[in-house]
Amino acid sequence: MTIYNLGSINIDHVYRLPTLPQPGETIASLAYTRGLGGKGANQSVAAARAGAEVIHLGAMGTEDDWVEERLTAARVQTATIARLSNEPTGHAIILVDEAAENSIIIHPGANRALQEKALAQALKSIGAGDTLMMQNETNQQAETAALAKAAGARVIYSAAPFQIEPLRAVLPHASILALNALEARALFAEAGEDLPVEGLLITHGSDGAEYRDLKTGQTHRQAAFRVKAVDTTGAGDCFAGWFAAGLDRGEDPATALRHAAAAAALQVTRHGAGDAMPDRAEVLEFLR
Ligand code: ATP
Repeated sequence: MTIYNLGSINIDHVYRLPTLPQPGETIASLAYTRGLGGKGANQSVAAARAGAEVIHLGAMGTEDDWVEERLTAARVQTATIARLSNEPTGHAIILVDEAAENSIIIHPGANRALQEKALAQALKSIGAGDTLMMQNETNQQAETAALAKAAGARVIYSAAPFQIEPLRAVLPHASILALNALEARALFAEAGEDLPVEGLLITHGSDGAEYRDLKTGQTHRQAAFRVKAVDTTGAGDCFAGWFAAGLDRGEDPATALRHAAAAAALQVTRHGAGDAMPDRAEVLEFLR
């Protein structure tokens, strides 16, 4: 079936610095890299590399064609990405010092200028068996989730970055809620653990992940694979994309968790976010 993903597309500008700048200070960068990021783009690439058919719903500025080319190279379908003349492509300025401490500025740009009509048009063929993924870095989440749920699709919502307002609006239309441990703690403090969804995916960094099937009451646990992590940016997105792709291809939650954990373990051994997502052959080889 098809995975539609309503999600942000960011350019990550990463500067390595001797120290983080103080107010008024100018510092020369030691190194610069430019990569594909944004939780949405990361999850689309992860799910596509896992073998799913992925249609990305999002927006960018009119420049930065390399971003769309990189998504296409990962076999993410991009015809439903709007190119807006009045907004820049979303981007993040990431400053990292010698001690790996960071400061990050995100400019959402086109990611928050999505149009309800265009999204409804893009979703006109979604139906039972399809999946809609989404996160908290765009606008239009609740409206789009409602459309997909009404069409019978599975809605997988990564409530990250954690914000209670969009979460409350999307929750009635979500099938599976995906959170990291910190986000889960914040949500349970706000809303309790009795949530109106079928399943809860919680990742615990190097302590692994769990999937709580709220219909059966069963919890599946998956340990993290031991690897030498060099950059964990996008690990949660890798996990969510692979888990969604696993369910989409009919895997049971335990198998989807195992594949997602292997994919995320490989992803953290590489620098970058979207560009670091492993493909299915690599994951199967890792698990042999
Ligand atoms: P991020 O915000 O960095 O993208 P996150 O906080 O959303 O990540 P985490 O819970 O940190 O997500 O990690 C997601 C999954 O990635 C974990 O459940 C685990 O399987 C894998 N993972 C993360 N860090 C490591 C690590 N150091 N070694 C092995 N696997 C890891």
